[in-house]
Amino acid sequence: MSNQPFWKITPLEAMSPTQWESLCDGCGKCCLGMVDDPQKPDALKHTSVACRLLDPHECRCSSYEDRHRFVPDCVRLTPTKIKTLSWLPSTCAYRLLSEGKDLPSWHPLVTGNSESVHNAGMSVRGRTVSEREVQQNGGDFTAYIADWPT
Ligand code: SF4
Ligand code: SF4
Repeated sequence: MSNQPFWKITPLEAMSPTQWESLCDGCGKCCLGMVDDPQKPDALKHTSVACRLLDPHECRCSSYEDRHRFVPDCVRLTPTKIKTLSWLPSTCAYRLLSEGKDLPSWHPLVTGNSESVHNAGMSVRGRTVSEREVQQNGGDFTAYIADWPT
């Protein structure tokens, strides 16, 4: 038996559902609204606007299993799809492993502490504005374009 952690020795395609889900570091960055990049055609920019289902403190989906009932366009990540999603943050564990890289030192699987992603300042905690609030104020997401999520 190898002493290596599963993410170092198991291809993404061969992971169990539990292993796959545990890779998510809980940063919440992929749950931010995006807008067209004013500088680059066909590119997207992140904003600090949180999806209506995102818990802004836990940085997790508040209705993950049922989310497509409320947010039909929420993307379901797969090993194949990851390679096509250029907007996935550079810190995303799925993206890193898909690119042949390791998990960062602050990843909860490495530290054994689910708070480590927040303590390292790598999550959206304390940095978002609610989608509902933005919509109540005219719905202009471009006013919230942000570089930090990438
Ligand atoms: S960006 Fe990646 S690691 Fe972060 S919440 Fe989304 S899927 Fe999880
Ligand atoms: S539905 Fe849930 S998982 Fe999907 S973007 Fe919104 S908060 Fe994130």
